[in-house]
Amino acid sequence: MTRSANLGFPRIGAHRELKKALESYWKGETDAAVLLETGRELRARHWRQQREAGIEIVPSNDFSFYDHMLDMTVALGAVPERFARTADPLERYFACARGTSEAPAMEMTKWFDTNYHYIVPELHEGQRFALSASKALDEFREARELGIETRPVIVGPVTWLSLAKGEAGFDPLTLLDAVLPAYADLLSALKAEGAEWVQVDEPVLVLDLSEAQKAAFARAYAALAPVAPNILVATYFGALLDNLELAASLPVAGLHIDLVRAPEQLVPVLDALGPQMVLSVGVVDGRNIWRTDLDAAFALVGKAWDRIGPGRLEIAPSSSLLHTPVDLDEETGLDAELKSWLAFSRQKLDEVAALASAIKRGRGAAKAAFEASAAALAAHKASPRIHRREVEARTAEPVELARSSPFPERRKVQRARLRLPAFPTTTIGSFPQTRAVREKRAALRKGIIDTAAYERFLEEETAAAVRLQERLGLDVLVHGEFERNDMVEYFGEQLDGFAFTRNGWVQSYGSRCVKPPIIYGDVSRPAPMTVRWSAYAASLTDRPMKGMLTGPVTILQWSFVRVDQPRSETCRQIALAIRDEVLDLEAAGIGIVQIDEPALREGLPLRRGDWEAYLSWAVDCFRLTASGVADGTQIHTHMCYAQFEDIMQAIVRMDADVISIETSRSHMHLLEAFRDFRYPNEIGPGIWDIHSPRVPGRIEMEALLRKAAAAIPPDQLWVNPDCGLKTRGWPEVEACLANLVETARRMREMV
Ligand code: GLN
Ligand code: ZN
Repeated sequence: MTRSANLGFPRIGAHRELKKALESYWKGETDAAVLLETGRELRARHWRQQREAGIEIVPSNDFSFYDHMLDMTVALGAVPERFARTADPLERYFACARGTSEAPAMEMTKWFDTNYHYIVPELHEGQRFALSASKALDEFREARELGIETRPVIVGPVTWLSLAKGEAGFDPLTLLDAVLPAYADLLSALKAEGAEWVQVDEPVLVLDLSEAQKAAFARAYAALAPVAPNILVATYFGALLDNLELAASLPVAGLHIDLVRAPEQLVPVLDALGPQMVLSVGVVDGRNIWRTDLDAAFALVGKAWDRIGPGRLEIAPSSSLLHTPVDLDEETGLDAELKSWLAFSRQKLDEVAALASAIKRGRGAAKAAFEASAAALAAHKASPRIHRREVEARTAEPVELARSSPFPERRKVQRARLRLPAFPTTTIGSFPQTRAVREKRAALRKGIIDTAAYERFLEEETAAAVRLQERLGLDVLVHGEFERNDMVEYFGEQLDGFAFTRNGWVQSYGSRCVKPPIIYGDVSRPAPMTVRWSAYAASLTDRPMKGMLTGPVTILQWSFVRVDQPRSETCRQIALAIRDEVLDLEAAGIGIVQIDEPALREGLPLRRGDWEAYLSWAVDCFRLTASGVADGTQIHTHMCYAQFEDIMQAIVRMDADVISIETSRSHMHLLEAFRDFRYPNEIGPGIWDIHSPRVPGRIEMEALLRKAAAAIPPDQLWVNPDCGLKTRGWPEVEACLANLVETARRMREMV
């Protein structure tokens, strides 16, 4: 019979219980027993909630104290040597994730195109593996003791190896034969424990695969299937496309596919599916917060049912629910209408269950759920809060994307106007968000102080930052961003079309969570957002003041985005709002405006074939924000740390007068792409790694700057830190900026 299933539940807890337990354990305020107990309570609660929602296949081993990739690394006995000195297993686990005074942490990177970060396995030639299956087994038993038979989840071998790193030239995939016995032992241990099914996640199946990866799939599953419980290979975040034949021909018992990102793959998958294989259809979005259109989802499920019958069908979310907040019922601050359009993890499980009962017992069995879904959807479609004619009309109007003159001409005008020295110095925007700043913001929110008092405080902070920058001798000043809680939220709160949750937390990494804004309707800017602060700061100094904005692609990328129109359309609306802000800053006499786009690269689609279309509209949106200003207004952008070499064409097309990037940790390695591409505009490669409290000396900074000057013509170079300084303390900031300014001064003397 058709069954309802889940692939994974958020671990962090509806009130971020796990975050709190982890952080108090790390601080030494509570002991391991308290942490372990919190984990047990959360697992029990989540299993029970899934059961109560009517989910028949409930996952286990989806819980993690830090990250499921790291859990897999531990299970396979592949923890790097440098952590061996930490004897206690729990301590060692956190040492891998967070580092110790002797051993730097393992690297962390983004999980596919989500905002979740996993710990990258570090493998080397001759790597040995040794199974420690206890976590998966313990959690399976723990659920069973609560009366719940679960389907354990593990990361599959090809995905685990594909996401690992080794020394240059070493391909971790060559370790497949070495790792398979450990996988086989794990799977047979689960089988011996009585697990009937196991979910093996292989999301790399939605990526462009090499021949070696494809061969690895065939080889791995031929070895594992005979000793394992029934294997459901789970794919998500995209379509199988050219990997479909491969996935459908694996000797496994079932396949999960994402029909939210790729509904069009249903028919080809049904055509390719082996005659015995179970198909799990992911029809409820595991990546976004919108309520499911149950009629549309039911149509997909029905199509699968017609072809393969009830016995081989499972209904599930598209992916693990890790990427959505836990419970919409916690949101007491959202209005009822907006709430009726949304579904968080718990509500999504209700939707999966409703679809399963409808297919098994007829639509009448889930009548209320279907009616509510249809009504919410109809209201959503018609709501004047979503579609605003004047915004849509403006979005449709063509706007010139090019600046009035090419860069060499703009540069002349800007140089005459700004009169900056060679190697001009600046910072990326934010100054320390100290406890005092955060407390004042909290006091305002709680009504302890009024807006006037809060703004007076911000003015004092801003004025102090301006004085400090003058005293240190920086050339281009910033106001310090003290008024901003977050670089996206600050803008979202002032734009129409955005909503904010109280508790809509999603895990980013470890104990860190983010609370993305929800873009629910047409976006527009009712009033200037930053002019007040930039103009105030500019009034305090004769030096150039740089205005600070977050770019449209980054705002889009770090929000939950509406799905009733293309992302490009929403991005264009945001871009028009930012464009207006740029023009208002210019009109207020601000001669330099920085539009941050640190998320531009992370928005790249998973498949190379889709890159060009994305880069085309994303870069157009950036250009749209900047193209309205006069030649003499200098546009900066900032992009943090990114792999630039394969997007250089897009970076050039952005045509910012100045781009700043993070380069100090890579020892200017990232600059090579700019050198090789003969990047034509100006560039500020960071010479101070702001991610650590360490104060780099002048010699160190100078070495980096010289390296930069060897790669890029010196008259194109700016001198700045890697990123904003909001997480740093004032003493380091002062010391580092003094060194940075001195470094620039000495460079000027030398060239
Ligand atoms: N202007 C922002 C700041 O300085 C940029 C932050 C970022 O790049 N992530 O904080
Ligand atoms: Zn940055």
